[in-house]
Amino acid sequence: MALKTKEQYIESLRKLNLKVYMFGELIENPVDHPMIRPSLNSVAMTYELAKQPEHEELMTSTSNLNGEQINRFTHIHQSTDDLRKKVKMQRLMGQKTAACFQRCVGLDAANAVYSTTYEIDKAYGTNYHENFKKYWDYIQKEDLVVDGAMTDPKGDRGLSPSQQADPDLYLRVVERRPDGIVVRGAKAHQTGMVNSHEVIVMPTISMRPEDKDWAVSFAVPTDTDGIFMIYGRQSCDTRKLEEGADIDLGNKNFGGHETLVIFDDVFVPNDRIFLNGETDFAGMLVERFAGYHRQSYGGCKVGVGDVLIGAAALAADYNGAGKASHVKDKLIEMTHLNETLYCCGMACSSEGCPTASGNYQIDLLLANVCKQNVTRYPYEIARLAEDLAGGLMVTMPSEKDLKDPKIGPYIEKYLKGVDGVSTENRMRVLRLIENITLGTAAVGYRTESMHGAGSPQAQRIMISRQGNISAKKELAKEIAGIKEEQNK
Ligand code: SF4
Ligand code: FE
Repeated sequence: MALKTKEQYIESLRKLNLKVYMFGELIENPVDHPMIRPSLNSVAMTYELAKQPEHEELMTSTSNLNGEQINRFTHIHQSTDDLRKKVKMQRLMGQKTAACFQRCVGLDAANAVYSTTYEIDKAYGTNYHENFKKYWDYIQKEDLVVDGAMTDPKGDRGLSPSQQADPDLYLRVVERRPDGIVVRGAKAHQTGMVNSHEVIVMPTISMRPEDKDWAVSFAVPTDTDGIFMIYGRQSCDTRKLEEGADIDLGNKNFGGHETLVIFDDVFVPNDRIFLNGETDFAGMLVERFAGYHRQSYGGCKVGVGDVLIGAAALAADYNGAGKASHVKDKLIEMTHLNETLYCCGMACSSEGCPTASGNYQIDLLLANVCKQNVTRYPYEIARLAEDLAGGLMVTMPSEKDLKDPKIGPYIEKYLKGVDGVSTENRMRVLRLIENITLGTAAVGYRTESMHGAGSPQAQRIMISRQGNISAKKELAKEIAGIKEEQNK
């Protein structure tokens, strides 16, 4: 069975024995928890759309490992067409959820681990690539959700993993046994971990020979003994706990989530290990994963941007300002910025190339340029959306007031916009804009645009490495007729 239904996915999550803490308490039933459920619904949409004939082309693919039809969120890219379809799929998912749908991290981890393990095996005669292929064949056949865990807490950023006062600040091997390894540490900012069946762990930075115990990559089920998660807070998150909450949520059905995940002496069997002490390959794995995830943002954020642009246009219509020239111009600017991000996602995909293992990788320079733009443009799009929404977005009363028999009629009367549009609908669209720009989805649309897949400086380092300034100097010399430099 390669494609699960949405219902089968939800049932499969119920079988996991996850340890999730929120507000200092262990959660008994994460699947039905009102604060977690919208994020689960976002992942479930990856299953739902894959079953719809009109989305089959984008949402599914044929596995290079077993020849079966699989969800594209588990695909090992076989061409630049696959890379472009990935971005298009993410844009579609962003349009349908207006939130982070979480499943891309495992996809990006898988493609990075697939190609890197091939190269490690060639250099060291290890068996990591076969380990990974066997593991990923299982993931594809079971249609599972996999979290990709990269970011360590990192402690003192000026020190390498082995120099930290507390060696656990980077996840590490604490014991080597004949049948496997025992690891200890934590991974921060773990997108979608509570909705995942499995987790692929990777190192977070390049390593030196003395960092051998920290150069480790592996996969385990998310309910493995020793793993527990601490659920991250999001702006306005407790609104979801309010009885009957709907309008005030802005996006009642969908959301994302982040967790701090602790690995408290977790055993990993040998056949689930993909890197174990080969420090010289840690950097390659990080660079490739980051590259794929920087490409991803040229799809997912664009899809959410589409919803935000639509919401801003609706808000202007409901205010009676839809035909004003400055409103039209702001919508043009938002569209221009959003499509620029999409251009970057498509460009780094189109310029992709095969790795030694045969899967396809994005153009790293262009993927980093993509993500660098993502650290900026969603903020400007959000600013323009707030401009068009007007101040009412942050001053209007709650839905309980709107529904109150005594106060409600006053709100209905005085917060009315154009004739023919209910005050409730006006409030709904403003709450949606609030959700994306300031509320729970702002975690994904704004701050994650800044820090997700690496903070802006990380992309600038890669851009400086890949930018090839010396070749550009040669171009300039050629045109300017500079044959020999004076000081030579
Ligand atoms: Fe996918 Fe975007 Fe969420 Fe990353 S931020 S997991 S790319 S939806
Ligand atoms: Fe992310």
